[in-house]
Amino acid sequence: MDGIKIKVKLINYTPRPLETITWAALISYWDEWESEVFERVTMDDVEKHLPKVLSYGHESILEHAVFTFAIEGISRVTSHQLVRHRLASYTQRSQRYIREELSREIEELFVIPESVSDKPKLYQRWKKMLEEAVRLYKESVECGVSCEDARYILPQGVRTKIVVTMNLRELKHFFGLRTCERAQWEINHVAWKMLEEIAKVEKLKPVIKWAKLGPRCIQLGYCPEKELMPEGCFKRTRERWNRIAGD
Ligand SMILES: Cc1cc2nc3c(=O)[nH]c(=O)nc-3n(C[C@H](O)[C@H](O)[C@H](O)COP(=O)(O)OP(=O)(O)OC[C@H]3O[C@@H](n4cnc5c(N)ncnc54)[C@H](O)[C@@H]3O)c2cc1C
Repeated sequence: MDGIKIKVKLINYTPRPLETITWAALISYWDEWESEVFERVTMDDVEKHLPKVLSYGHESILEHAVFTFAIEGISRVTSHQLVRHRLASYTQRSQRYIREELSREIEELFVIPESVSDKPKLYQRWKKMLEEAVRLYKESVECGVSCEDARYILPQGVRTKIVVTMNLRELKHFFGLRTCERAQWEINHVAWKMLEEIAKVEKLKPVIKWAKLGPRCIQLGYCPEKELMPEGCFKRTRERWNRIAGD
């Protein structure tokens, strides 16, 4: 699985994110709310109010907490799918200003899907083609073509790095679509890794259950893609999600 070369790391997030969301929610229906209350919000308050408010569908409060991830080694196919999620901020490694480092192994430069790499003859032909693209890129730059123009020869599988900041509401939407088993394997891998990164922070873990951060079948309780749902998918997905969300 190429996923081993893909790195996903939760780098930063709003300080006291769950307290911030809870404090914001309280303004709606607590007459004595004031800004100073924020300092006094405890995790007990969070547990008392947040699951309830979220169960009412009051999801805009999730927008008050943002999360920043570093994602390395994904293909430009996947970074393009990622940036289609508009309610987020992105900064990506530039192919205009950075010359691709082409002395490395072809698998380090490009994501090659397993459906190809497990077919030896086909895999060799892919490698040959990618090596030729790399040679042409290099030669073009050596002939004075700028990196921004030479990159046109590089296939979409070329690896990239990207920093992503999403608020928790957009993360929920993103997880809904991309942790679904029917999403393409690479963005699916990235999305599950992002969810796992959140789960690693013990204090954040409960919000995965409260806000149902996961595929749409978890959020809705059924698969909206109905007849397109792969055999056994609902059970597999629920088990995988439960392992991450915990009890
Ligand atoms: C299985 C799958 C297949 C796909 N296939 C294709 C494809 O063939 N071709 C293609 O072009 N794309 C495809 N996409 C990408 C898809 O169309 C979306 O661009 C992508 O999933 C981003 O999600 P989004 O637009 O819901 O939400 P985001 O951009 O993440 O925004 C979140 C939500 O905010 C709201 N919102 C954001 N912007 C606006 C706006 N301008 N107006 C009104 N509401 C807004 C919407 O409610 C939206 O759902 C596919 C996605 C998936 C998951």
